[in-house]
Amino acid sequence: MGLLDGKVAVITGAAQGIGFAIAERFAADGARVVIGDIDEAAATTAAEKLGGSAVATGVRCDVTSASDTDALLAAATERFGALDVLVNNAGITRDATMRTMTEEQFDQVIDVHLKGTWNGLRKASAIMRAQQRGAIVNISSLSGKVGMAGQTNYSAAKAGIVGMSKAAAKEMAHHGVRVNAIQPGLIRSAMTEAMPEHVWEGKMAEIPMQRPGEVAEVASVALFLASDLSSYMTGTVLEVTGGRFM
Ligand code: NAP
Repeated sequence: MGLLDGKVAVITGAAQGIGFAIAERFAADGARVVIGDIDEAAATTAAEKLGGSAVATGVRCDVTSASDTDALLAAATERFGALDVLVNNAGITRDATMRTMTEEQFDQVIDVHLKGTWNGLRKASAIMRAQQRGAIVNISSLSGKVGMAGQTNYSAAKAGIVGMSKAAAKEMAHHGVRVNAIQPGLIRSAMTEAMPEHVWEGKMAEIPMQRPGEVAEVASVALFLASDLSSYMTGTVLEVTGGRFM
């Protein structure tokens, strides 16, 4: 028996990295999954890797677009008949100190993370409210807890996701919809592999468990928050950080 048997989940930015690991874990636990990603071909390939059309479907979705988000969520209800879980995971970084960060880099990061999460939250909430059930998991970051130099845009967006999650949790609790967030620390993925080695080493030195996290270790916490194992939890923020900045 899987923890998500018979459930339908949508995950944004799920063609690779943490999002794909979440999709993979959810499918292994019995869910049918809709993989949203800005890269349509990559979303389709990711869905095929999970076993094809009986289990997964890939949909092009730019989370900054409300109409793309509508189409993504409609794929869940039309293709698989329900929307039980949404994971707002899509993300980008445009790191630079304030001295060099452009207004465009600031806006891009705020748009994808904050507007993107808000689009998913409000659209999924409307569907889940009608069903009187659902679980939403928003991917924040440790950067949103402590603030990281070179990430005024990203830290602001990720802290904003915490406030947004708590506000939405309060609006939706009496409709049977739970909203929680995860703050990953240093997780091995394409996003962090792009980091210069000295930055990576600096972060490693801050981790009590003395290793980076793996995408599967974020996915298992997402599974917990998406499933009935966390049925009395809403508005929480779980850190997956190896003890960094506890
Ligand atoms: P990743 O490997 O870069 O994956 C992010 C995915 O989101 C990519 O497939 C990307 O597509 C997609 N995406 C980007 N912009 C999008 C948009 N506008 N609409 C839809 N999809 C979009 O990064 P990751 O490490 O797995 O990160 C996943 C989430 O975890 C992000 O929210 C990130 O901020 C958060 N996080 C990561 C870490 C870490 O250490 N890795 C730590 C804390 C938080 P393209 O590749 O085509 O752009």
